[in-house]
Amino acid sequence: MSDPTPTPAPQATPSAPAAEVILGPDGVPLSKNELKKRAKDAEKAEKLAQRLAREAEQARIKKEKDDQDSATQNYGKLPLHQSSTREGRTRVNIADISAANIGETVYFRARVVTSRAQGAKMVFMNLRQQSASIQALMEVTKNEDDPHQISKQMVKYAAAIPSESIVLVEGEVKAPFEAVKSASVQDAEVVIRKIHTLVEVSTTLPIGYADASRSAADHENEDATYVKVSLKNRLDNRVIDLRTDTNLSIFKIQSAVGSLFRQFLVEKNFIEIHTPKLQGAATESGASVFKVAYFDRPAFLAQSPQLAKQMCIAGDMERVFEIAPVFRAENSNTHRHLTEFMGLDLEMAFEEHYHEVVDIVDALLLHIFKALKTTYLAEVQTVRKQFPTEEFLIPEKTVRLEFKDAIKMLRDAGAKLEDGSELGDFDDLSTKNEKFLGALVREKYQTDYFILDKFPLAVRPFYTMPDATDPNYSNSYDFFMRGEEILSGAQRIHDADFLCKQMLGKGVDPESMKGYVDAFRFGAPPHAGAGLGLERIVQFYLNLGDIRRASLFPRDPSRLEP
Ligand code: ATP
Repeated sequence: MSDPTPTPAPQATPSAPAAEVILGPDGVPLSKNELKKRAKDAEKAEKLAQRLAREAEQARIKKEKDDQDSATQNYGKLPLHQSSTREGRTRVNIADISAANIGETVYFRARVVTSRAQGAKMVFMNLRQQSASIQALMEVTKNEDDPHQISKQMVKYAAAIPSESIVLVEGEVKAPFEAVKSASVQDAEVVIRKIHTLVEVSTTLPIGYADASRSAADHENEDATYVKVSLKNRLDNRVIDLRTDTNLSIFKIQSAVGSLFRQFLVEKNFIEIHTPKLQGAATESGASVFKVAYFDRPAFLAQSPQLAKQMCIAGDMERVFEIAPVFRAENSNTHRHLTEFMGLDLEMAFEEHYHEVVDIVDALLLHIFKALKTTYLAEVQTVRKQFPTEEFLIPEKTVRLEFKDAIKMLRDAGAKLEDGSELGDFDDLSTKNEKFLGALVREKYQTDYFILDKFPLAVRPFYTMPDATDPNYSNSYDFFMRGEEILSGAQRIHDADFLCKQMLGKGVDPESMKGYVDAFRFGAPPHAGAGLGLERIVQFYLNLGDIRRASLFPRDPSRLEP
């Protein structure tokens, strides 16, 4: 507080000699009464000035005392961390703290979930590191000589640290009065001795961590009126949303699916490849590629590594796979389409039959599902708390159906085309009919995962090998999870002339893909492969409802940010 400037007292001269006449503002001499009043006013002003001066002095003394707060070294905001020192001090993980550590001093970095003062002398905090949280508290110490001095100011400081700020805490592990239900560590708490703010969140957060963590069941609870965080709001503020246990688990699972895919295929002698994402021609189907400016000519973003991976087979790599982004310029605003997604692709030469490839891909998916059910069970269960769903059913032996059997099942159950007309033998499956088929297959075979083989040739790309006995069908397959497509694959045409014929039949000029066609002129073994969407596997295994939840920063027709 700055020193107040005392109000100057009006000048009055009550004992002025009789000769001295005091004039008022209007030039008329003041009466006796007026002179008396003036004198009183001056006295009052004097007293006020003295009181203000006294108060200013008291404030100065208090501030000095506060400045001498012997606990100041135990708390406060740290300067910008610029890596100026490296103490090498051991820090602990909250997840590792338990009753076994009681009495130990711990030091760690954490986010402040909540900080609540209890009167002026105590504060309770909930501190978080990823999905682990612990209760921490601090109470004013009575003894000023205590080396772990906690002053009132320190408590006040801690109570005011904004949520989601990052703090460095030193404290002693103690047994809580009772099990701490609000934290993941329930049998221990930390009595804070030092707390320093490393990063202060000084803005009002657009979504609350607790709100973003709530399940649909929470919202159905009529007694509680929680703030509902929409998917749009989550995606607009993805960084905060990502901090929730659910998202941490979703992306651990996503990471696991990628590494399980890689690990399985490497063990089966596949080579990981990296194909270009910038292409000179709009391959496969010109309609669905993004055109970009490439110096003075156009280029296109790869919609799949299809052509390159087949060329690797022609290059005698035998078995290849890739995990990389692919781009689709389709204006599909659905629950399962993104404009950029992670493609899990593989291609391999086979010996006798393309079903050798189907067998490997099936074993690969079963390997992934098994690991999700065992090694990643905790993460799956965490996600299910927010997105409850039925168990993902997988039978002993994978169900494999032919497309024509699926059409029969659908027809028998009364399925129609979107426009209400009868389902034709060679009509592609709409998403609605895919889902319907999934429900029928689940009911009949108790499975959420199955393979559909022998698709009609007409609904597949030009490089698909026709069936040997009925050219209306093809050696192609899709894999389904919870009644929706997660994988598409086929035996590819490895004969250049036949390939050109099929290209022309689909209106594709072979000259526009000369390098690709040449690969087969130079000789390529019979081969087949598959393309999967990483996000779809995660989406459907966890039944997240929308693919955007399985994508870190999703790209769809209307979203290019953040
Ligand atoms: P859909 O019929 O669902 O549009 P598609 O037949 O176009 O899929 P493919 O081009 O065969 O799919 O791609 C192979 C796999 O890649 C699909 O099974 C799916 O897992 C994934 N995938 C395809 N398109 C998308 C997309 N737009 N967003 C996310 N994943 C996709």
